[in-house]
Amino acid sequence: MHHFHYVGQNLHCESVDLAEVARLYGTPTYVTSAATMADNYNRLANSLTGLDVQLCYAMKANSGLAVLRHFARLGAAFDLVSGGELRRVLAAGADVKRSVFAGVGKTEAEIQLALESGIFSFHVESEPELARINHVAGKMGVKAPIAIRINPDVDAHTHAKITTGKSDNKFGIPLKFAAAAYEAASKYPHIQLRGVQMHIGSQLTEIGPFAEAVAKVAPFAAELKAKYGITYFSIGGGIGIVYKDALASGSAAWWDAQPAATRPLTPEAYGAALVPLLQPLGLKILLEPGRYMVGNAGVLLTRVEHLKRGSGKNFLIVDAAMNDLVRPAMYEAFHEIVPLHRDTTRRALVADVVGPICESGDCFAKDRQLQEVGEGEYIALMSAGAYGSTMSSRYNTRALPAEVMVQGSAFELVTARETFESMIAHEKIPAFLK
Ligand SMILES: *Cc1c(COP(=O)(O)O)cnc(C)c1O
Repeated sequence: MHHFHYVGQNLHCESVDLAEVARLYGTPTYVTSAATMADNYNRLANSLTGLDVQLCYAMKANSGLAVLRHFARLGAAFDLVSGGELRRVLAAGADVKRSVFAGVGKTEAEIQLALESGIFSFHVESEPELARINHVAGKMGVKAPIAIRINPDVDAHTHAKITTGKSDNKFGIPLKFAAAAYEAASKYPHIQLRGVQMHIGSQLTEIGPFAEAVAKVAPFAAELKAKYGITYFSIGGGIGIVYKDALASGSAAWWDAQPAATRPLTPEAYGAALVPLLQPLGLKILLEPGRYMVGNAGVLLTRVEHLKRGSGKNFLIVDAAMNDLVRPAMYEAFHEIVPLHRDTTRRALVADVVGPICESGDCFAKDRQLQEVGEGEYIALMSAGAYGSTMSSRYNTRALPAEVMVQGSAFELVTARETFESMIAHEKIPAFLK
């Protein structure tokens, strides 16, 4: 469910006409809906009643200060993966003390900053990392709270680049070595064993792998509670969103019409399956959803530059490119594409929707059926709120896109479009070329 819908023939986000946003701030521009983010947060939190839940939004999905502030006000903490992300949490005036620090390669400086900021826990992925955290905590004369990430060896049935819970990828410690890892960790003088963690992958649209992984790790979590007094079990993120029918999935009617067997995972189904498995543990449950929280809450607005008609192939060339939204190029991801102004009297058009970058991979959609649109008209790439702006780059010396947040009929620029001057501000010509 989300808040992007046509009012008359014009696509709106909540009560705001998106064409107005595009005209005012130019394109490419990301637009996020505050109401959709709040709904996502509340639905997930409510689906887990009966558990002591600490929801740590995985901010790598969308780490804009406005997004962080919004989630902080709703009650979220954060799952962060770098010193930069930690500083964003602070800059947003949000809570580090209930947040967790994940990632396989934390530097000493990052560990120190996290300890100084009172991080709730480090999620540890290896023995050498544990030794490093112990070392930094020792120098500071403190104990570092940690959880070890367990790799439950469950197939998440998702894209290879976003599956993380199989034994052959770089994440976590296999369950069969986990007891020994905790035993070793308990010997470090500056480590406090606070929890246990897992995260099996991203964009999961069925409950099976989640339930399988929780069932596999729960007995071990109980053991750790008895032995070391751990207080929490983090079950990671990974809840998927709807990409194919993105626009339609904004309405309850669409969800009601989906046959139960193929209905994409909802927070309610997630809670119904997992609460009974988790409740008996008597542990605090941490969740780390990223994509689910913001994915359907954002769109990327772009302007049509040209419609190039080829022999047997049409190309719709737009002003957004793979540097703004890399998911199609990187993960073969599908984003629904809709016009900001709908006109049912127009002919249909089948085209590849491409950006202006000099790479064949700079393609948002192949042979996509669209309403015919021409130069100067706007279209929206749906479901672009997660792993969109945070993965953007300056490739081809293209400025990072602008970002706008909507709430009701209010909207505001929350990230100004980058300027050329700021793009080159950190570069210089060396003395030997002067
Ligand atoms: C990326 C990540 C998440 C969030 O994944 P989503 O699929 O966006 O929910 C959660 N936990 C860890 C450890 C991650 O690396």
